[in-house]
Amino acid sequence: MLGLMQDQPLLISSLIEFASRQHGDTDIVSRRVEGDIHRTTWRAVASRSRQVANAIEADYLAFSERVATLAWNGYRHLELYYGVSGSGRVLHTINPRLHPDQIAWIVNHAEDRILCFDLTFLPIVQAMHAQCPTVGRWVALCDADALPADTGIPDLVSYEAWIADHGATYDWPEFDENTASSLCYTSGTTGNPKGVVYSHRSTLLHAYAVSLPDAMCLSARDTVLPVVPMFHVNAWGLPYSCALTGAKLVLPGPALDGASIYELIESEQVTFAGGVPTIWQTLLDHLHGHWLKFSSLRRTVIGGSACPPAMIDAFQTEFDVEVLHAWGMTELSPLGTICTLKSHQLDLPAHEQATLRAKQGRAIFGIDMGILDEEGRALPWDGKTGGELVVRGPWVAKDYFDSEAGSPLVRDAQGREWFPTGDVATIDVDGFMQITDRSKDLVKSGGEWISSIDIENIAVAHPDISLAACIGIPHPKWDERPIVVAVRRPGSVVSREDLLAFYAGKTAKWQIPDDVVFLDTIPLGATGKVMKGKLREQLKDYRLP
Ligand code: ADP
Repeated sequence: MLGLMQDQPLLISSLIEFASRQHGDTDIVSRRVEGDIHRTTWRAVASRSRQVANAIEADYLAFSERVATLAWNGYRHLELYYGVSGSGRVLHTINPRLHPDQIAWIVNHAEDRILCFDLTFLPIVQAMHAQCPTVGRWVALCDADALPADTGIPDLVSYEAWIADHGATYDWPEFDENTASSLCYTSGTTGNPKGVVYSHRSTLLHAYAVSLPDAMCLSARDTVLPVVPMFHVNAWGLPYSCALTGAKLVLPGPALDGASIYELIESEQVTFAGGVPTIWQTLLDHLHGHWLKFSSLRRTVIGGSACPPAMIDAFQTEFDVEVLHAWGMTELSPLGTICTLKSHQLDLPAHEQATLRAKQGRAIFGIDMGILDEEGRALPWDGKTGGELVVRGPWVAKDYFDSEAGSPLVRDAQGREWFPTGDVATIDVDGFMQITDRSKDLVKSGGEWISSIDIENIAVAHPDISLAACIGIPHPKWDERPIVVAVRRPGSVVSREDLLAFYAGKTAKWQIPDDVVFLDTIPLGATGKVMKGKLREQLKDYRLP
């Protein structure tokens, strides 16, 4: 017997129509590339996303063809999110921090037909457009009168002119909810980037899950600032979850420095913000440097790489902002786990709560996770045994776009298929997962593993260190020994000996790094994570003392 409920596909167009109907007057605020603040509403975004859909129809794009973006977080990007996917085409968000050759490779691999870009990225488009024969239309995300002349890009049109000729009446098509909605390439630390293809169904289920109280707890009373870029796994799904809940959305554009972010948080009374630790560090530095406090910010989700306990502590004790430490991946849409405490943990002493909050947290419903040994056997959830973290669920990738490599899934000892994350983790009896490392970043010393994350967290807890990365250096006796590469805060003179002494009592003696290398900067990747491969390359002539 089948259920007798209405058979309505879960489609992205329903999110924007819902937001327009139920929260039409709620603000969407953007800092534009031009530097000014732009205000619109969910109703106007819905209306203009229908104009986008009409413009795409007029360009004769077939169902499921790709529309690419090279864009900051802003209202036009948001309109493309809904207009492109809602019309049955696939939104391909490209990370502009990649090299132009890599961007051209991605555009060609995805066979993008239209490419929309912020004027900041004009030089990139000028460098790569001739290598991208599939793109038939280049759209600059600007007003008609701001379109630069003589760009060398054929038939370049401004976004406003592109949509202006089209009405705001459009009947969103109904189709199978498993249809592709958007495409995001992982930065691919080795080999070519791999395209993750989300569906309408996966996106909507993820949007529900993200909004839940024990996840990001979003509501129509929130003002949400995704500092995480809309080209980085759909800004962690926030543009969708905000439509689903009717939250006010504040989009920071290109200004990601501490002063600009702080100014936006205060002027728009942001209650919830999300970003990677490196961005939040610049915000904290700004607050400390200017004796500032937040008047509205209540919660911040931090993920993308391990959030140092010192950062969680600073947000909570100095600024009264709850940190939700989250873990995810491009292949997971991205949310897998988030750290919110259970009721019995609220009575624990402060230091035990702090230990828990440093973990990457519990799986949200929809994510099934486990840790496996090398034979694919499930390892115990005891908070101590580490193994490869594997996941499954309706918003976890089963394959990559047009990939020759074959399915990435692995089978456990029972024959069930899992996505292997490449992360090494423990899971405790309460189901709290903690990443100890990426498998390729673990340091193996004398047959024992050292977590590079632990070593980094201790270094950045030192008041004079702003950023640290731990890497393994080949050693004749121990296989590898850890060293810590650190960046001093401006004006500080902390020495190698000071920093090594700081490790005493904070980790086992044999895990204390053998050396400290101070650098002015540490290479960060396109999504703000330390690029350990590049760092190793940079230190290839380094020898242990
Ligand atoms: P990339 O692999 O290109 O960096 P992703 O953004 O998908 O792309 O990164 C996913 C990886 O980031 C995870 O597999 C994990 O190693 C790391 N990561 C994400 N969030 C966290 C976190 N909270 N703590 C530790 N590592 C994290």
